[in-house]
Amino acid sequence: MGHMQNILIIEDEIDIAELIAMTLQRDGFNVEIEHDGAEGLALALKTQPDLIVLDLMLPTMDGYQVLKGMQRDTRSHSIPVLMLTAKSQIEDRILGLEKGADDYMTKPFSPKEMLLRVKAILKRRQSTPSSTRLSYGPFIFDKNNLTFYLDKEPVSLTGTEFKLLLYLCQRSGQTQDRNELLRAVWGYSDDAHSRTLDTHMKRLRQKLGEHGSLVETVRGVGYLVAELP
Ligand code: CA
Repeated sequence: MGHMQNILIIEDEIDIAELIAMTLQRDGFNVEIEHDGAEGLALALKTQPDLIVLDLMLPTMDGYQVLKGMQRDTRSHSIPVLMLTAKSQIEDRILGLEKGADDYMTKPFSPKEMLLRVKAILKRRQSTPSSTRLSYGPFIFDKNNLTFYLDKEPVSLTGTEFKLLLYLCQRSGQTQDRNELLRAVWGYSDDAHSRTLDTHMKRLRQKLGEHGSLVETVRGVGYLVAELP
């Protein structure tokens, strides 16, 4: 790993923020903490950290609003986010993923598990091959700066969406099994993350608009991007 990686923690519960910070620092990460949503977003735009640990319930702006703000700005739209939620309802977690988080954890969580998730997210970011462009029909992937173009217009994809679509396009004509996709993109596969895959796919298709149908669902197996004629 090259430079020391910077992580921004946006969490208003001071003891939880400190626990996360300590765990990450002990593992060699550079950490900054904000206790307020709007200030957290401002710092994210300014420092462009490698990853953000984002709490859902925050003063001034909640986690969803912070995500929305991040996605609107090219300085922050591809920063991966691990969302923290005190709510245990699956709907809240799904909503977080639909709004652009890469992964989520429900409180209370173990610091060790949090560290594993952070590393898994960063690893899938780093393993995205760099410095070339790949095109597939109306899609262009600029792998150097994780920018995606649809019909030559930039479309804001999260890091996970970018990796997922790139993975499928690089293997066009071959159905990708659900577990294989989960392992390749998230670094692990289990039943809970099976929902995560579908949620990301749904949102990805929405962003692709009329071209969303290029990503086909293969019932009972996984997903397929067809070979170009
Ligand atoms: Ca909170």
